[in-house]
Amino acid sequence: MAVSPTVKFNDGNTIPQLGYGVWQVKDDVAEKVVGLALDAGFRHIDTARIYGNEAGVGRALAASSVNRDDVFVTTKVWNEDQGYESTLAAFDASMKRLGIETLDLLLIHWASVHRGLYLETWKAFIELQKSGRVKSIGVSNFPEEQLREIVAETGVTPAIHQIELHPFFNQEQLRKVNNELGIVTQAWSPLGQGGDILTHETITKIAEKHDATPAQVVIAWHLAIGNVVIPKSVTPERIVENFEALNITLEAKDVDVINALSHEDGRIGPDPAKAEF
Ligand code: NAD
Repeated sequence: MAVSPTVKFNDGNTIPQLGYGVWQVKDDVAEKVVGLALDAGFRHIDTARIYGNEAGVGRALAASSVNRDDVFVTTKVWNEDQGYESTLAAFDASMKRLGIETLDLLLIHWASVHRGLYLETWKAFIELQKSGRVKSIGVSNFPEEQLREIVAETGVTPAIHQIELHPFFNQEQLRKVNNELGIVTQAWSPLGQGGDILTHETITKIAEKHDATPAQVVIAWHLAIGNVVIPKSVTPERIVENFEALNITLEAKDVDVINALSHEDGRIGPDPAKAEF
């Protein structure tokens, strides 16, 4: 079975570069599909309080023959839980649902700029990391300004920044900022949520050449440009297919043509600078 490469964080810890995401997966389904993902070889699971499936993920981890220590688990603090004390309480509740002692990675789910609580939330994250209950801390959906602000104010740089990133919206600028600050970039909705990217001629042609599927080509592209990537599927064959993207190495010219597919209006989700939730 293939093994995912790992990427090193600025805190010395590492993360498997290819992981498995469970947004929009019901709790009981999560229990089943996380089990399938572990069987397929995934050793990195991405959940969040707002997904409502931390308990299902926890049951899958407990039931698996794969050792807990060999699986990298991420969860996220939801916007309504931001603030110092409420973050600490939200973390406790997430850990209870997950049923684990130590978390590998905790993320602020959105900067939620209009609330003005992201800095306090980040300070709580720093305390949680100091306590040893969380190995690494990071953020998701932060505009450049707020990302630089939490670093400048606390002196603690997030290990990772999880952002919308796929061939139609490749976030060249924000990836540069992450790199400059020493932050690993993680791609959410890496397959564009299974939309037009997977039927785009550029992708299907490369897939044919490599005797691979379009989803595998897109995952291989993420790996080639250095992203940590967390595709989601609840279909058993696709879970295996997505993990087997590790066997595909794109040529530099393939990577270049996929890079060229990105366009300004390629974003699917909300813009973190404007989101008011
Ligand atoms: P994705 O880009 O991973 O697409 C998933 C969809 O693509 C599936 O539902 C299916 O329709 C299709 N698909 C998957 N594998 C396929 C295959 N092999 N062949 C054909 N179609 C396939 O979308 P996503 O779920 O939005 O993103 C992945 C993960 O990123 C989430 O599950 C979650 O963990 C994370 N995420 C985080 C945020 C955030 O705000 N931080 C937001 C969205 C998603």
